[in-house]
Amino acid sequence: MPEQVKTVMDRLTAAGHDCALVGGCVRDWLLGIEPHDYDLATAARPEQVMALFGHTIPTGLRHGTMTVLLDKTQVEVTTYRREGTYSDNRHPDQVEFVEDVEQDLARRDFTINAMAWNPIRGLVDPFGGRQDLEKGLVRAVGDPVQRFEEDALRMVRAWRFAARLGFTLDPATRRAIDRCQSRIADVAVERLVPEWLEILRYDPGRVMDMTGLFAPWIPELEFARQTPQHSPYHYAGVLQHILDSIRYLDPFDDILALALLLHDLGKPETRTTSAGGRDHFKGHPIAGQTIALRVVEELKLPSAWKKVIPQLVLHHDDILPRSLEAIFRLRITEGWSDEWVRMLFRVQYCDIMAHSAKGRQRLERLKASQAFYEEQTASRPLSLKELAIDGRDIMTYTGLRNRQISQALQAVLEYAWYHPEKNNRLDLLTFVLRSLPRLEGGMA
Ligand code: ATP
Ligand code: MG
Repeated sequence: MPEQVKTVMDRLTAAGHDCALVGGCVRDWLLGIEPHDYDLATAARPEQVMALFGHTIPTGLRHGTMTVLLDKTQVEVTTYRREGTYSDNRHPDQVEFVEDVEQDLARRDFTINAMAWNPIRGLVDPFGGRQDLEKGLVRAVGDPVQRFEEDALRMVRAWRFAARLGFTLDPATRRAIDRCQSRIADVAVERLVPEWLEILRYDPGRVMDMTGLFAPWIPELEFARQTPQHSPYHYAGVLQHILDSIRYLDPFDDILALALLLHDLGKPETRTTSAGGRDHFKGHPIAGQTIALRVVEELKLPSAWKKVIPQLVLHHDDILPRSLEAIFRLRITEGWSDEWVRMLFRVQYCDIMAHSAKGRQRLERLKASQAFYEEQTASRPLSLKELAIDGRDIMTYTGLRNRQISQALQAVLEYAWYHPEKNNRLDLLTFVLRSLPRLEGGMA
């Protein structure tokens, strides 16, 4: 345990306040995993915590959470509490401070998260969390239906911990999810997205069993689950293919995981089956883009994600042709950044890998396309700052102004892209002077 956490515990104990490590850190420590943070809980009230430590921040005072600052390290201390009723399915109407750690543990979601430890009492484990850790079970504390009715997010958290730890859901907990799943619609999407992302990071295959928990935002995942792909290029149905593709993301990336999750959702609605029984999905990237545009809004994703994800979906099937024109068009005419192109390559790699051996043959084309892109963009200018002249030069030598200058720079960039050997001041200025009539004419 970090020095500062121990100091806070010692000081609380010395002042006569019961305190304990709780939740994730106890679970991880029992599993032999280094905890990423340490949650301290105590019988002391927030004002008593404040009085005891010089520097505190009232992080979540209403809920009893204080941050104690000890030489720049932050330690969170939360007063033992019980939660009241949940009339809106989201937030407890009130929290009530309590004296015993057991009562605090009873409000927690799963037995494996409802253990406490301190040096005096050792492990406090009223719900059999340690045994469930050994069995690899995620089990709700108390009556699962009631607990999911209190806070529907817990249904997704159950899958999240199962995915991360490689656990299974306790049968009663799982049945309760089936029964309560429509209540997920009441949960704020901002709370859900991080949980979903963690599932995609650790074990995307879990999504197969939880499409109902995505349904209010992405009903297409369930349609994808029901859509087979009879094709020599595939070994699995649409959803299985999607989830398998996410497994190939290495290193994992939130934006790309979401792009892959959405990339083939246009397939169910575009599926046609030919006489031979073969499935085709003509136009699925466009249909997918429409879905992605809606989903990124509904998930309230950051604006940079909202821009790129639908583009990655739209283009996931288009391997960039090995031509200077194609690269110039994508990067300059369509305005894709180098970063976006690299993201597209990664999406395409993952997508192709989740195909049958026959489908994977496209990998050669992708690799060649990527190598061509790398080689050409390394040896040719593709941004204004890589040019041997700038706007000021153009102004000085031509007298062009404002929009004419940026037009001229664009023309220079195109010229230098195709003739990289001319990317020097003399050649580029000569080019500008020669194109002057055209540039001025462009303004007329
Ligand atoms: P992680 O390592 O992912 O942070 P964690 O167990 O610390 O895992 P948090 O989401 O940080 O998970 O929550 C801290 C603790 O608070 C949990 O261990 C659990 O005891 C409790 N908790 C969190 N969210 C809920 C909830 N929605 N309902 C009940 N208890 C919860
Ligand atoms: Mg935590």
